[in-house]
Amino acid sequence: MRPFTYERATSPADAATKAAAIPGARFIAGGTNLLDLMKLQIETPAHLIDVNGLGLDRIEETGEGGLRIGALVRNTDLAADARVRRHYGVLTRALVAGASGQLRNVATTAGNLLQRTRCPYFYDTNQPCNKRQPGSGCSAMGGVTRQLGILGTSDACIATHPSDMAVAMRVLDATVETVRPDGATRAIPIAELHRLPGDTPHLETTLERGELITAVTLPKPIGGTHLYHKVRDRASYAFALISVAAIVRRDGGGRVALGGVAPRPWRVEAAEAQMPKGAKAVAAGLLAGARPTPDNAFKIRLAERTLAAVLAEARA
Ligand SMILES: Cc1cc2nc3c(=O)[nH]c(=O)nc-3n(C[C@H](O)[C@H](O)[C@H](O)COP(=O)(O)OP(=O)(O)OC[C@H]3O[C@@H](n4cnc5c(N)ncnc54)[C@H](O)[C@@H]3O)c2cc1C
Ligand code: SF4
Repeated sequence: MRPFTYERATSPADAATKAAAIPGARFIAGGTNLLDLMKLQIETPAHLIDVNGLGLDRIEETGEGGLRIGALVRNTDLAADARVRRHYGVLTRALVAGASGQLRNVATTAGNLLQRTRCPYFYDTNQPCNKRQPGSGCSAMGGVTRQLGILGTSDACIATHPSDMAVAMRVLDATVETVRPDGATRAIPIAELHRLPGDTPHLETTLERGELITAVTLPKPIGGTHLYHKVRDRASYAFALISVAAIVRRDGGGRVALGGVAPRPWRVEAAEAQMPKGAKAVAAGLLAGARPTPDNAFKIRLAERTLAAVLAEARA
């Protein structure tokens, strides 16, 4: 690990201002992703700004009947919250499908959204990777791509976003609240937080330099049956090959998003109109334009079947 300096921020605005002003500064929350990347020298921040002590660890009801989840709320606490379990079950199910109990005790809401890809070549510093080193090439092209993306990818990068929680947040239409280095705040719909790679896969989000996530808000509950199915190579402690987050109403309509297939949670609102017609019709819209590799073409069939299983369970 390279040497770095460390400080505790005194307020969200202080954290954002310092992160923008100090070259090579990064926020640290639970550290479960950032520290791993630092040990491998994939990330080499010169300065860490600890955002743990800022009082951003509460879950509060909003005036609109929804929930405001502080950026530092731990994944375990969010999954266990009685209001989340009762009204946003898809979120609890997605959270407990991720990582392990020990990791979830430490991992935070914002850190989970901003965790980096698990592409094996991103982790191997001996291999070119456009995301790690812009312009160096993509070792996954022609390499082992079983885990990698089939939708929203580009010739420069076919990595997926690994978060389970983010897929549930996407079907819930969550909004990310931030504070910028100049003290201004903004609200970003979760659909607009993660960028597609295009020619610049190293630019992963629409956050500005130094912009701190302070909370994630969920709108008023919409009812329905909430499900999250995750298909993976091991029963625990493994990232999704395919995941499906769904909210299904009594009339068969609802919302659905996929994980494990794209650089961001994959939802196509137009496809949801087909839900009463069944999984095949929805899958056709969700998977339109897929660009699988020979190694991961199985994800198309797997997504169709997982979606069919989820909708069948909701009907039952
Ligand atoms: C062995 C293992 C298995 C795992 N399995 C899964 C899995 O199955 N599913 C899954 O979804 N995840 C999985 N994870 C990932 C885990 O969920 C993430 O590491 C965790 O959620 C990251 O949260 P953190 O608070 O530790 O983030 P950190 O490591 O502290 O930070 C991650 C990134 O977010 C930035 N950041 C943190 N807070 C803020 C903020 N408030 N505003 C702006 N930027 C911020 C940091 O600068 C950093 O870039 C696994 C991790 C490990 C190590
Ligand atoms: S798929 Fe993306 S993360 Fe993986 S090697 Fe290619 S550029 Fe890097």
